[in-house]
Amino acid sequence: MHAPTMHTATTYASLSGLPAAQQPYWPDEAVLEEVERELAALPALTTEDEAVDLMRGMELVARRSALLVQGGDCAERFHEAVPELVRQKVDTLQGLAAIMRAGSRSPTVAVSRIAGQYGKPRSSPFETEDSGRRMPSYCGDAVNDPEFDPTARIPDPRRLVTAYECSTLVLSELRRSWSGRPILERVYASHELLLMPYERPLVREGARGAYSGSAHFGWIGERTRRADGAHIALARTVHNPVGVKLGPTVSPEDAVELSRTLNPEGVPGRLTFIVRFGAKEVDRLLPPVVDAVAREGAPVVWLCDPMHGNGVRVRGHKTRLIEPMRAEVASFIRVLHARGQWPGGLHLELTPDPVTECVSERDEEPSFTDYRSTCDPRLNPEQSADMVSHFLSLL
Ligand code: PEP
Ligand code: MN
Repeated sequence: MHAPTMHTATTYASLSGLPAAQQPYWPDEAVLEEVERELAALPALTTEDEAVDLMRGMELVARRSALLVQGGDCAERFHEAVPELVRQKVDTLQGLAAIMRAGSRSPTVAVSRIAGQYGKPRSSPFETEDSGRRMPSYCGDAVNDPEFDPTARIPDPRRLVTAYECSTLVLSELRRSWSGRPILERVYASHELLLMPYERPLVREGARGAYSGSAHFGWIGERTRRADGAHIALARTVHNPVGVKLGPTVSPEDAVELSRTLNPEGVPGRLTFIVRFGAKEVDRLLPPVVDAVAREGAPVVWLCDPMHGNGVRVRGHKTRLIEPMRAEVASFIRVLHARGQWPGGLHLELTPDPVTECVSERDEEPSFTDYRSTCDPRLNPEQSADMVSHFLSLL
């Protein structure tokens, strides 16, 4: 029996004293502390001005004058931090943003899951291989290695520094892609604000107050959004635009509390709710949440993540079916329109590679011949473009 890589219960982050869910069992506290000091001494990855530029775009989305497409890998890999692959990812997302601009005649902000999407929350501390072998879960390249080997799964704090180094390389390529583009048409970098020993040392003091120097936009995941937890406290501390995933366990009161906590001044564009209820639940759960936030909360950007509430297993593969994802997008737009709210856009897991990770109900014998993701299944370029067109056709 191997030790799990994650704490199963909520634990207390040494730095903040607040409960921080989904933190790995770092085996060596002394190395971890050294890593935190090292990260604190390194330059911020992103600048405050870049975050403020993105905030301007997010504000337009909140004011119904623009749309947003956010997308990329579920889990980035260190070895993919090379110019050619980064360019492909950026071009793929820019292609989707171009479809949105053309189809809606609205400016469209593009936010990539890139340059830091190296830590993964997991529903279970163990995962099981097809052969039935059980192993501590892979928690992202910033924590451990996906190889099916118990030693590879031991969390290594030095990986947090590698995550920083890879993010530097990715961001320099990303910034290269900005040249000649108006500020609104760049691709900005985002990831889940998950790993406290990585995120906290990268909170920096800017001219306008504390900001996250790890990303332009960061979001708090479905498993770490408790109102009194360390992750929400981190998001509250920084003035970047931030998001929170809302899944089936969120109550309308929780959503109102989050909007008040994270956006007490009601700044349009500051807060995005990324909803991922699943096709079966969205019609029942989304309306009371939207109503409560509209009535009692601050302005928010509403984004639809049709991926994370629609996971299924087909012939032993973790996949997502296209049809329920399309149904969730349609419900999302219908619910928001019925309430006079603006469906701000999509949050997708996608890749430039021609993978067969997500499949259609119509495929009689879905063949997962090209399955590369180490975590969740992603849309290939054709599937992503179809999803964006579907969104536009209902807007
Ligand atoms: C993710 O976006 O990869 C993720 C884990 O999402 P969620 O927090 O919505 O489950
Ligand atoms: Mn995912």
